[in-house]
Amino acid sequence: MSSFLKIALRNLLKGPSTDPYPFGETFVPKGLRGKIKYNAKACIACGMCEHVCAGGAIQIKETADKSGLEFIVWHNTCAFCGLCEHYCPTKAIRLTEDFHTAHSQEDKYRYVERGFIKYVTCARCATPMVPIAPELMTLAYGQVNKDIEKLRHLCPKCRQKQSLR
Ligand code: SF4
Ligand code: SF4
Repeated sequence: MSSFLKIALRNLLKGPSTDPYPFGETFVPKGLRGKIKYNAKACIACGMCEHVCAGGAIQIKETADKSGLEFIVWHNTCAFCGLCEHYCPTKAIRLTEDFHTAHSQEDKYRYVERGFIKYVTCARCATPMVPIAPELMTLAYGQVNKDIEKLRHLCPKCRQKQSLR
């Protein structure tokens, strides 16, 4: 048998060398920077991600009824630079390995990740405030005891007064 036939037979028996994607599964390289995922419960609305966003894809604004803050990431504007994840102090925003970012032109204004941070009221003065994520307290104090946990429910002014006591 000629070497050509040997190679052809071997390749036929071996099957395809490429992934059947999009008709089947494919692999995702480790560390791939894909679609943004946002966790409103861990977000402290510091605005850092909006500030560093290379593509201007992030917007945080107060809702019309002033009940909280709306968080929006425009997927089709995101450049997958990863700066938001890098600078987020509480890891509330991260890039997933989801690379499925194709969408129709009509969907470009709907292709967004949204979150809502509902204001809570200060336990002492009842001022509306952004809830303080437990992640931030752990970051700031390490071990969170009962006294420190109480600070989570106070607005910045009352927190300051409490800390100075
Ligand atoms: S990955 Fe970069 S471009 Fe995308 S939302 Fe985060 S900071 Fe903005
Ligand atoms: S997602 Fe992170 S960086 Fe962005 S506002 Fe929330 S806490 Fe700050």
